[in-house]
Amino acid sequence: MPKFHKVRTVIDNLWLCLNIVFVLFIMSECNAQEMKKSDYSDQREWMVRSQIQSRGINDQNVLKAMRKVPRHLFVTESYRDQAYGDYPLPIGAGQTISQPYIVAIMTQVLDLDKTDKVLEIGTGSGYQAAVLAEICDSVYSIEVIESLGEKAKELLDKMKYSNIKVKVGDGHQGWIEHAPFDAIIVTCAPTHIPQPLKDQLKEGGKIVIPVGELYAQELIVLTKEKGEMKRKYLIPVRFVPMKNSEGKKY
Ligand code: SAH
Repeated sequence: MPKFHKVRTVIDNLWLCLNIVFVLFIMSECNAQEMKKSDYSDQREWMVRSQIQSRGINDQNVLKAMRKVPRHLFVTESYRDQAYGDYPLPIGAGQTISQPYIVAIMTQVLDLDKTDKVLEIGTGSGYQAAVLAEICDSVYSIEVIESLGEKAKELLDKMKYSNIKVKVGDGHQGWIEHAPFDAIIVTCAPTHIPQPLKDQLKEGGKIVIPVGELYAQELIVLTKEKGEMKRKYLIPVRFVPMKNSEGKKY
């Protein structure tokens, strides 16, 4: 083969290799972009910065948990792309998952420790329970609507949250078998604070609870000090009402 042709073949082969490397690079970039979109990590980071840190939430455990828990898996599928928006969303059975900031502030005020045992009333989608489970030792969560309780249980099991126990029942009564609790979070609103929840709280523990009629609710933190409940009002809120198993409002 003449020398010129040899050189030509080498150049052609090199050009081909370069093209293959370029195509592979583009493919891996597209794949990375697709992965980022499908695990919503950018949206989660944006949610934490623009809705949570910017409003003064600074508990590192809360921020870390909310950066980690995939909120989009807890909302109704057709709302997945809106899961990181600054508002509540439907989760089925006429119920809603709270706005991310509300989840953050309620978790922060409980001042949780990694050895804590927490009771949640109103499992809903299971999102708040997952955020709590990232921070503390164990979470006991009660949901009055069977279809929601079962769905949340299934999802949390699939996500391997072995430190969350969900039961279907009326959370107004608390969960006596696992009491006392270091902290209690109520994510539905009664018009008064249920006595069993006060009784099932440890000395020094905190309850965070929305209280009042639909358009006049306040988020309250109660701290048990020497058996007495000390009250602090946080912000006005709008939660779904707390109801018993027959659907009657408390
Ligand atoms: N924490 C949830 C949002 C809860 S919405 C989440 O992260 O998705 C409030 C939930 O409280 C609803 O699912 C509602 O069915 C439930 N609920 C209302 N009354 C209740 C009661 N007495 N006991 C337990 N759950 C109750």
